[in-house]
Amino acid sequence: MPQEQARVRLLLHVCCAPCSTACLERLRAEFEVVLFWYNPNLTDRDEHDRRLAEARRYAQSAGVELLEGPFEDARWRTVAEGLMAEPEGGRRCDACFRLRLRVAGEAAEAQGIGLLTTTLTLGPRKPLVKVAVAAAQALAGLPVEYLPLDFKKQGGFDRSLQLSREYGLYRQDFCGCEPSRREREERRR
Ligand code: SF4
Repeated sequence: MPQEQARVRLLLHVCCAPCSTACLERLRAEFEVVLFWYNPNLTDRDEHDRRLAEARRYAQSAGVELLEGPFEDARWRTVAEGLMAEPEGGRRCDACFRLRLRVAGEAAEAQGIGLLTTTLTLGPRKPLVKVAVAAAQALAGLPVEYLPLDFKKQGGFDRSLQLSREYGLYRQDFCGCEPSRREREERRR
């Protein structure tokens, strides 16, 4: 009997459980996916732990391994220094992507995984090209390649909404950092 070919291992950086749903669905047919949580950009420890708890719950339901990075909010504030007045989609986001993808790349290397992608491109305000540029900078010197997938394509965002409802996941209405929360509140007024 022919041996089943082993699937390539891929580390998926997850920004939150709702975005993970549609991305994992798309990837797992082709790859052996390991999830990686690292989001020091979140406003505070409570918001971080709330989103992480949902990511754990989702990973368990989906039957996939979730590795966890620390909540290094001081580190995030250092890379975002001087950029807090930038609009969402501006230079603060570039720095934020770079930090998260660098740490994800290091985690992939530590696991012996050579391929990395991220749920970030599911977000309507996160163009693939910006994430890909940040990934190229972040992964410099690491034996890890970025897989440039635009998860918002092919109805990815709507699919994540549907799957989040099915799994009963907490879905936040702002990206993650304090300025993005303020922007969200201003748009609501
Ligand atoms: S808006 Fe989102 S991606 Fe941009 S800096 Fe804030 S948390 Fe990071």
